[in-house]
Amino acid sequence: MFIFSDTFQYMKNNLLDPYREKFVAAWTNRTLNFHQTTTNRVEGMHALLKSDLPSHRNSLAKIVRFVDHMVEKQYVEIRREFELSIRKIMNHHKAQPMLRNLLKKVSLYALDLLVMEIQCVEVSLRRYGTSCGCQLFHSCGLPCACRLEKLERNGN
Ligand SMILES: [Zn+2]
Repeated sequence: MFIFSDTFQYMKNNLLDPYREKFVAAWTNRTLNFHQTTTNRVEGMHALLKSDLPSHRNSLAKIVRFVDHMVEKQYVEIRREFELSIRKIMNHHKAQPMLRNLLKKVSLYALDLLVMEIQCVEVSLRRYGTSCGCQLFHSCGLPCACRLEKLERNGN
């Protein structure tokens, strides 16, 4: 008979102990992952590939050409986003004095993350006195709230 404690012990021995650092946020937030912590993108691409394939009976060559076309479209989209980042200035980025030297040099997405982190300096660190956790620094390589506060204090 398989009872709860056996199930728990099985899960602990075969999943939690060997792999917990791969999926528990306390560990995954401390590795460089650029906020890619789920498989949603892969699943979305798989669904798109399945829905856009011309038919269910395709040769390998046809599938390879189709995947190649999809990757090319993604590449064009990524380049378009990068080019947008070096041309466009968002008002909420311009409103942050600490970000002025980064405008048109860093992606709009990274600037959005930094704006949120600057707000964390104000709300979490100063108002409520909570600790930073340094998640943005470890997961994206961007300065986290405690580092931004130190930069601000030193006038950088
Ligand atoms: Zn920090």
